[in-house]
Amino acid sequence: MKRGISVSEARGLVLSATPRLGLETLPAGEALGRVLGEDVVAGRTLPPHDVSAMDGFALRAADLAAAAPAAPAVLRVAFEVAAGAAAARTLAPGEAARILTGARMPPGADTVVRQEDARREGERVSIGVVPRLGENVRPAGEELRAGECVLAAGRVLGPAELGLLASLGRTIVSVRQRPRVALLSGGDELVEPDGDTAGGRIVSSNSYSLAALCRRVGAEPRYLGLARDTPESLEEKLRAGLRADVLVSSAGVSVGDRDYVRPVLERLGAELVFWGVEMRPGHPLVFARFPADGPLVFGLPGNPVSAMVTFELFVRPALRKLAGHTALFRPTLRARVGETLRKAPGRVHFVRVRLERVDGGYLARSTGSQSSGVLRSMSLAQGLLVFPAEASELREGETAVVQVLDDEFFLSEEPGF
Ligand code: AMP
Ligand code: MG
Repeated sequence: MKRGISVSEARGLVLSATPRLGLETLPAGEALGRVLGEDVVAGRTLPPHDVSAMDGFALRAADLAAAAPAAPAVLRVAFEVAAGAAAARTLAPGEAARILTGARMPPGADTVVRQEDARREGERVSIGVVPRLGENVRPAGEELRAGECVLAAGRVLGPAELGLLASLGRTIVSVRQRPRVALLSGGDELVEPDGDTAGGRIVSSNSYSLAALCRRVGAEPRYLGLARDTPESLEEKLRAGLRADVLVSSAGVSVGDRDYVRPVLERLGAELVFWGVEMRPGHPLVFARFPADGPLVFGLPGNPVSAMVTFELFVRPALRKLAGHTALFRPTLRARVGETLRKAPGRVHFVRVRLERVDGGYLARSTGSQSSGVLRSMSLAQGLLVFPAEASELREGETAVVQVLDDEFFLSEEPGF
């Protein structure tokens, strides 16, 4: 087991121990946000044949070569093609077919003139414009051709991809499984939110914040409940999570007398990969793995902010990797520091900040108390400012990297155009 390692070494160890999950098949309509597990090859050409892009008249462009507004060409309206129908016959020279948007071009016709540019009089239509050959026709295969790979394995399925799958007639699709996360909290002081807090008990808020973080990243949390501060209770809870893909516990990883997470994990056969990351908040983080098919285990520190920050930095990228994503990390930006920050060198500090757009850049201001017990500062934070390990001062106006935590940060109250 490694001890006291850097954030980047810890991240590397976590991600190299993290596999991609297997595949499952789903109705395509339920696959929003999932990662495609197969190459999707088009079984059909789209559009399957030349179709009209307008309501108007299908005709031969050559018949209009000499047309002018003062001397319109007059064609005979031979038949009509409705959307979804096939033409009755080939269009002969001197003929036009009334056609609707999306309807199949009749054989013989090569161009569509919009109805606004035509004047119909009974069986005749007069047209005073000279169209470009092929104008207002969507040619067969304009979008894609049968046999083409349209979506490669690894693509994230968004609304347009689900529409494409539907237009190819794909109702079932193979995707990466969603990670199942078993969550537990531990501590004799903890009660559920409706519990009795008399005598110094506190509510286990981590159960809620961590479950929400799981859902936000598309994982399925399962809450195992509260473990008491005994090895037996902790072992019982941890065992209940051994069939999950990831087991996340919070608390009990420091150096206190009742911090049993590490010894109990070892007794269960886990290999401890590291304990202690040179960061604040979140230093006592434990990462372990089970041989073979067992879960990855994150023993997060119990303090509410430490638990959330270590989840964001280590558990979230691992869950994205399990789900098949290649973009594992939240976006970062560079921001000017709003007020001078100081610390002792040695550990990276992740400073909870609010972000303002100023002069085409960003300004980051601390949310106030950076105590790892103050969950409210996490609720105010839009990002984590990275105060590098070896630095002891970040002066007002200097720039630093900020990882943006707030999924809504780039949304706007203004339309912007
Ligand atoms: P521990 O790691 O057990 O020493 O816990 C560190 C701090 O986090 C203590 O103040 C705990 O009361 C608090 N804590 C532990 N678990 C939770 C939890 N599930 N929800 C809220 N606070 C917690
Ligand atoms: Mg405790």
